[in-house]
Amino acid sequence: MDRSVYIHIPFCHEICHYCDFAKIYYNRDLADQYLKNLRKEMEFYLGNQKISPRTIYLGGGTPTSLNSEQLEYLMKSIHKFIDVKQVEEFTIEANPGEFEESHVKVMKDYGINRVSLGVQVLDDDFLKMLNRNHTVDDVQNTVRMLKGFNLNNISMDFIYALPDQSIEHFKKTLNLALDFDLPHYSAYALQIEPRTVFHMRHQQGKLTKPPEEDEAEMLSMLMEMMEQAGKSHYEISNYAEEGYESRHNLTYWNNEEYYAFGAGAHGYVNEERYVNIRPVNHYNEAIEKGKNQYYTLTLLP
Ligand code: SF4
Repeated sequence: MDRSVYIHIPFCHEICHYCDFAKIYYNRDLADQYLKNLRKEMEFYLGNQKISPRTIYLGGGTPTSLNSEQLEYLMKSIHKFIDVKQVEEFTIEANPGEFEESHVKVMKDYGINRVSLGVQVLDDDFLKMLNRNHTVDDVQNTVRMLKGFNLNNISMDFIYALPDQSIEHFKKTLNLALDFDLPHYSAYALQIEPRTVFHMRHQQGKLTKPPEEDEAEMLSMLMEMMEQAGKSHYEISNYAEEGYESRHNLTYWNNEEYYAFGAGAHGYVNEERYVNIRPVNHYNEAIEKGKNQYYTLTLLP
């Protein structure tokens, strides 16, 4: 088996108030240009060989911010360099309410077999406070649509210890989340990261996180409720039914190597860790000038 593959799609339709990932507002032309360059970058690294990784992870940003034609173009690029039939787990990150049946058809046709949904909280007022561009109804409709296409290996991501969130409120979100009876859940405590709207509000004294003891209690409750629901705590923030642990997460956890393609993507190849140029325009420029991969990345200590 070859190294796993991580591919970064840096576009989003909205920028969430807590987010410090490598992302930029979606723009159709820019996305077209980026996808062409992504294909070139894969060519720089992989040449004419077709690799057979165990896992592929399409992350972001939000891969489902692309329209379905763009998603199909990306899938064709992936199939050009990767023998997808051999891949055990092919995950796409997706935002509820943002994509349609035409996207799901592309996912199915090109071998995606796992969807990681960015849900964060199941309360419309809190979703607005986070500047998420979906509602609780969107989450329900999206899960229904995916299951309708027999894409049942779905994970949901949550954030807890949100501003003004009580333990009871988080419990309600967890109960609603478990009602979906999905095989995998992830949950992270909110971190106030620099260069985010939340950071600015925090600095101005306009945002307060719940006290540390509440955050600790939320974590204990999360672990207990997941355990009771038959989802084992198999990795720091991840809970799964047996056989549904994310193999790609375990690649990182087990310190195995993986390729990374796209602006701001982190990789680990030949015992060297690296990060690609992060701003999308700089990444595009480097690839278009015909520079090879050593110009698009920085080696990490
Ligand atoms: S959290 Fe996800 S959807 Fe929101 S801005 Fe960040 S990458 Fe985009």
